[in-house]
Amino acid sequence: MLIEVYGKQVDLAEGASCAEALNEGLSKKQFKKVVVAKCGDTLFDLSAAIPTTCTTLEPVFADSEEGLEVIRHSTAHLMAEAVKKLFPTAQVTIGPAIKDGFYYDFDYERPFTPEDLEAIEKEMISSVGANKEFSRRMLSADEAKTFFSEMGEDYKQELINDLGEEEYSVYSHGEFSDLCRGPHVARTGMLKAFKLLSVAGAYWRGDENNKMLQRIYGTAWSDPKALKKHLHRLEEARKRDHRKLGTQLDLFSFNDEVGPGMALWHPKGMLLRAILEDFARKEHLKRDYDLVQGPLILKRELWEKSGHYENYRENMYFTEIDEQAYGVKPMNCLAHMIIYKRKIMSYRDLPQRYFELGVVHRHEKSGVLHGLMRVRTFTQDDAHLICRPDQIESEILELMQFYSDIYSLFDYDFQVELSTRPEKSIGSDEAWEVSTEALRQALEKSGMKYSINEGDGAFYGPKIDFHLLDSIGRSWQCGTIQVDFTLPERFDIVYVGEDGARHRPVMIHRAMLGSIERFIGMLTEHCAGAYPVWLAPTQVRLLNVTDAQFDFVKKAERFFKNKGIRVEADTRNEKLGFKIREAQVEKIPYMLVIGDKEVEAGCVNIRSRDGEDPGMVTLEEAAQLVLDAAKAPFEAGGMSYSFSG
Ligand SMILES: [Zn+2]
Ligand SMILES: [Zn+2]
Repeated sequence: MLIEVYGKQVDLAEGASCAEALNEGLSKKQFKKVVVAKCGDTLFDLSAAIPTTCTTLEPVFADSEEGLEVIRHSTAHLMAEAVKKLFPTAQVTIGPAIKDGFYYDFDYERPFTPEDLEAIEKEMISSVGANKEFSRRMLSADEAKTFFSEMGEDYKQELINDLGEEEYSVYSHGEFSDLCRGPHVARTGMLKAFKLLSVAGAYWRGDENNKMLQRIYGTAWSDPKALKKHLHRLEEARKRDHRKLGTQLDLFSFNDEVGPGMALWHPKGMLLRAILEDFARKEHLKRDYDLVQGPLILKRELWEKSGHYENYRENMYFTEIDEQAYGVKPMNCLAHMIIYKRKIMSYRDLPQRYFELGVVHRHEKSGVLHGLMRVRTFTQDDAHLICRPDQIESEILELMQFYSDIYSLFDYDFQVELSTRPEKSIGSDEAWEVSTEALRQALEKSGMKYSINEGDGAFYGPKIDFHLLDSIGRSWQCGTIQVDFTLPERFDIVYVGEDGARHRPVMIHRAMLGSIERFIGMLTEHCAGAYPVWLAPTQVRLLNVTDAQFDFVKKAERFFKNKGIRVEADTRNEKLGFKIREAQVEKIPYMLVIGDKEVEAGCVNIRSRDGEDPGMVTLEEAAQLVLDAAKAPFEAGGMSYSFSG
């Protein structure tokens, strides 16, 4: 039979395997990097016979996204084999590939220890050395149940019962077999770059009424170099963990007495936050937004009207006042619409752009709470643009520019994604058509590259998402822009058109920083706590050498404060070297050292966080230097961090 393999016509015997075909079509060097074969959208084991309907066979290379997924899932099997060998009473459950790696959940009598992980890893390496073959066979449902029951694997039997299929594929390598769709690498020898990372408790099927299992996480890559790079990134991420830096820089904390997922902002963290919020307000005012604010709780009837009560109730908190039920707001839209309705708007009044640093509460499960990244109380930099349908495109275009300006100011690269109508949606075909097209047009005109996420829009309208790429290569979902034609309908908001008739406006929900909490968490990890000078809660720290300079230090502190510089004086009776190290740990942008010589000259000695030492300058010069550094990003349209931390 004649098929095309990687662009080359290849003649093969009937029943030839994918490996044979790829071996023919590829160079030796290329073939060595192949993990599985692909025909259409389906992946096949290399040992599988070429499907009879296949006319074109493609290789899937180890370093491709699909290739990595196969490697990661195969490594999960490899790990399960090792766990069963070392801990025969452990039961296997499921072990999928995830981003950058894999996990496998085991039912075992106690949590695995770091020493266990080491032993498991060693066992895995030995299985790789033995280069065992992955083989696949099909079993009927009954055969599969008997097979796993003889192995004593209760969870696999439960899975078979729930899946209710007629046939199951089972993959085996060495002594180990698993119920699995596959595909897998051909041999364990192909798994050369992995590392086990951590253990965590996980409920069977994510249900807290079920038994707690032991989940082992690992990472796996196409080659040792890629693994090394990833481990380095993890190490960097650990060092930059915003929870750790939050304590180190005395910015914020969480306290069980207060409640999980609700941050306490310490003086310095609150100052940082206030500066960021002021910045956000100013940037919005500059772009013709109005500041508004609604209450934290609104009557339940309003949430019924909006559909939140029906669709989002589980994530909301409720309370009662004078026998009237109220809902604590999980979003800020409703008050904004009521504000819009305070008077009759004409087509000339649109768009109305309402901005609110809106405090919202959402009930997140306690298991998913994570520092500032996932909390129950947070503040959105939220805005609602209420506009005519013909204004959607220009509004979106302006937003794209706005977001782009702000993200680059924080030194972020970003990716843009357009999500279209999902299967379950409300609203007319026409409304979807018009708004999706407007988003597409705006994206095209913005000149920004974007990808399309078919069917991933909100149920009430299409949306654009922004993913920020941080300094160690991680991607974070941040800003969104969502078009909504349903809420204006439900709340009957209108404008008077040129024709004197009433028309329905469109509402655009958008948040740029997303949540202030999360943004600060992200930014803290992005810059490793070395905030740009304009944002640093402490810009300058004065350090005296001995008590003899105390009065001058106090005078200098007042001088800088009067200039609007955020300054602190460290006049403790400690060694200068110690005080400098502390300021470095706290990533203070400028340390101004004052000894006898400086006092005599009426000067300070500057040491900057970036290692630049302008040396001895007058107070006036020092102030100017700091003020220039603090405004530089706004003038240049960008800012640069020092990632030395
Ligand atoms: Zn599997
Ligand atoms: Zn909204």
